[in-house]
Amino acid sequence: MSLKVKFLEAGYCTHPEAIVIRDGRWKNTAFPSLFALIVHPQYGNILFDAGYSERFFQETKHFPFRLYALTTPVHFKKPEDSAVYKLRKQGIEAAEIKYIIISHFHADHIGGLLDFPNAQFICFNSAYQAVKNLRGISALKAGFLSGLLPTNFAERAIFAEDKLMISLPSKYAPFDKGIDLLGDGSLLAVELPGHATGQLGLFFCDADNQDYFLIADACWLSRAYQEFVLPHPITKLIFSNQQEYTDTLSKIHQLYKLNSYIKIIPTHCPNVFNQLSTQVNCYF
Ligand SMILES: [Zn+2]
Repeated sequence: MSLKVKFLEAGYCTHPEAIVIRDGRWKNTAFPSLFALIVHPQYGNILFDAGYSERFFQETKHFPFRLYALTTPVHFKKPEDSAVYKLRKQGIEAAEIKYIIISHFHADHIGGLLDFPNAQFICFNSAYQAVKNLRGISALKAGFLSGLLPTNFAERAIFAEDKLMISLPSKYAPFDKGIDLLGDGSLLAVELPGHATGQLGLFFCDADNQDYFLIADACWLSRAYQEFVLPHPITKLIFSNQQEYTDTLSKIHQLYKLNSYIKIIPTHCPNVFNQLSTQVNCYF
């Protein structure tokens, strides 16, 4: 399958590194919010997540959501940092985006959804059901800002659970089953629970035969899956399930040990983003 992929950034937040990785420094570190543009020969332009948008600031103006902005200071230049603007710079208009695959419903992944009027949204229904009715403190705890979702989200949603579950190629072990999102074997979704309910991870292979595994927030820094290092215990407060988080990270660690040539892409790892943004430019 001749897929092409490009990784772009839509804003970033800052945090002490020791929060996201247990043996990290207490120094404030910038964590980019990465999204991927996947160009499919038949289905056209597909996004994996949509980054921050300036709506984050509107949605976090008042309490309790103000706490969200205070605990994860977001850096976002309006509008140049938005996914829609970054895509336009690549010659792609918002209306051309047919599908957006949503890893999970945290604000730094769904912030840009409202900018794409023709997109259908692909996600796990379990992820959507877990947040769709949350408001106030319970929404804040789940990192969910309901104003970032289009009002007709449910009509535009395609749920992964309704697609065919297939056996994955052995190169993706220990992940053995995945969901064939487009029915052609090109984009294979797996569940990566723990950070958020129904978090979606995506396997695919590009035109150069390079395998990718987009793991969203299953960990923040690649060193975490490479060396199997958990984040600071305080992150339990925002995780949907600590045990599932550990199990998911352990599985990704095993995949890395078995097949280190697969490019495993966490959304917020600065090192990975720096490598990718220079490396894949040749495609476009
Ligand atoms: Zn998240």
